[in-house]
Amino acid sequence: MQSLGFTPAVGDTELTAQQRSLLSLAHELGERKFAPRARQWDETATFPFANYEDLRDSGLLALCVPKDHGGGGSDYATYMMVAAEIGRFCGATALTWNMHICSTMWTGVLADGVPMTEEQRAEHVRRRELHFRRVVQDGAIYAQPFSEGSAAAAGRAPFGTTARKVDGGWIVNGRKIFASLSGAANYYGILCTEDREGVKPDPRDTLYLAVPADSKGFAISGEWNPLGMRGTVSRNLTFQDVFVSDDEQLMPRGVYFKGAQTWPAMFFTLAPTYLGLANAAYDFTVKYLRGEVEGEPPVKRRMYPTKQVAVAQMRIQLENLKSIFLRAIREARPNPGKDERMRLYAAQYTVMEGANDLARLAIRTCGGQGMMKHLPLERIYRDSRCGSLMLPWTAELVLDRMGRETLYEPGEKDEA
Ligand SMILES: Cc1cc2nc3c(=O)[nH]c(=O)nc-3n(C[C@H](O)[C@H](O)[C@H](O)COP(=O)(O)OP(=O)(O)OC[C@H]3O[C@@H](n4cnc5c(N)ncnc54)[C@H](O)[C@@H]3O)c2cc1C
Repeated sequence: MQSLGFTPAVGDTELTAQQRSLLSLAHELGERKFAPRARQWDETATFPFANYEDLRDSGLLALCVPKDHGGGGSDYATYMMVAAEIGRFCGATALTWNMHICSTMWTGVLADGVPMTEEQRAEHVRRRELHFRRVVQDGAIYAQPFSEGSAAAAGRAPFGTTARKVDGGWIVNGRKIFASLSGAANYYGILCTEDREGVKPDPRDTLYLAVPADSKGFAISGEWNPLGMRGTVSRNLTFQDVFVSDDEQLMPRGVYFKGAQTWPAMFFTLAPTYLGLANAAYDFTVKYLRGEVEGEPPVKRRMYPTKQVAVAQMRIQLENLKSIFLRAIREARPNPGKDERMRLYAAQYTVMEGANDLARLAIRTCGGQGMMKHLPLERIYRDSRCGSLMLPWTAELVLDRMGRETLYEPGEKDEA
C-alpha cells in the first residue's frame, strides 16, 4: 500500500482509495490553512469563515450528500475519519463542520436505514432534494441546534420548542442554546415538538425542521465567551411565530425519533473532533521535546527519562483511543447489537475524556514555556475539555446508560 506521507488521526489502518484521497486533502488543508488560523478564531471567539470557504471550494461541505445528488457520497466511517483529521488542526472547525455534515447524513445515508412507510419515503426523497441542492449548488451551511438547557437534548423529555401545523407549513416558537454556527449558518436544523392541540407533548412527535436564517421572527442573542471551542460561536436562538414551509422538513413527521433509536452511532459524531485534538496534543509534545517546534528555540528536552515515560504513556493512551474509535466507526449500523452499543458508549467516553487527559499530560510534560498562548497546546487543552459536556452523550450520561443497560434488559424493572 502506498504511504500517505503522514499517519492519519485515525491511525495507519486499511483505507479505501476514496478515504486516502480525502484524508490527504484534509491533512493538507489542515496543516497549511486551518492550523495557522486556529489561534485567531480562539482569541477573538469568531467563526472560522475563511476555513469554510476552503471546505466549500474543496467539496467538503457536500462530503456526505449522495453521489446521485452531486455530492461526495461518503459513508459514515469515511466522514468520521476525515473529521478526525480536521480536528487535529482546528477543533472549532471540525466541531462545527460536524453539525453541518450531520444535517446531510440524517437526511442522506442514515435516513436510508430508518424505517418509513412508503408514503413517508416518497415525501422524504422529494424533500431532501431541496436541501442537497442548497448544499451542492449554493454552498449552503446547515447548523444543528438541538439543545435547550432542559432534559430534552439528553433524550429524556420532549423539546420545549414547538411547531404548530398551519396551511403550507409550521409555526415555530421556542428557544435554543449553544447553537454552533450561529450567525454563520444559512439554515438552522432544529428539533422541536409537534404542538398537537390538547395532546401532551411527546418525544415521539419530534420534528426536524430547517429554519432559514432570514426567517421573520428568528433571532440570535446572548454573549459567547467560553473556556474552549470559542470559534464555534454557539449562541442562543429564539423563534417567535416563525413560519417555516413544509418543504423545510428534514425528515417526515415522527421519523426523527425512530432514527435516533435506530442509529445510536449518530451521537458518536462529535468524537472525531476530539480524537483529532488528542492527536494534536501528542504531535505537539513529540515535536516540542525534540526541539522542532517552528519559531521556538531548538531546545531539546527528550533526554529526560520522565519525559520519555510521559510520551510513552501518551502513545499508549492514543493507541487505545484510535483502536476503539476505529472499531466503533467500522461496525456502526442501524440497530446495533448490545455489545456494539456498549462499545459505542465506551468509545465515546474513552475519546472524550481521553483527549483532555492527553492534553493535560502534554502540558505537564512540555512544561511552562509550552503552554504560552502563541503555541497551540493550551488551546487544545481548553478545547478538549468541552467534549464530554456535549449532550446527549456526556461522560456522565454515558456511564449512566452503560450501567443501566448492562444490569437491566429492555422492559426489566425491580419490585417496589
Ligand atoms: C462548544 C460547544 C458547542 C455546542 N454546540 C452545540 C450545537 O451546535 N447544537 C446543540 O444542540 N448543542 C450544542 N452544544 C450543547 C451541548 O450539547 C449541551 O447541550 C450543553 O453543553 C449542555 O449544557 P447545560 O449547562 O444545559 O448542561 P446540563 O445542565 O449538564 O444538562 C442539561 C440537562 O440535561 C439533563 N442532564 C444532564 N446531565 C444529566 C445527568 N448526568 N443525569 C440526568 N440528566 C442529566 C438535565 O435535565 C439537565 O438539566 C454545544 C456545547 C458546547 C460546549
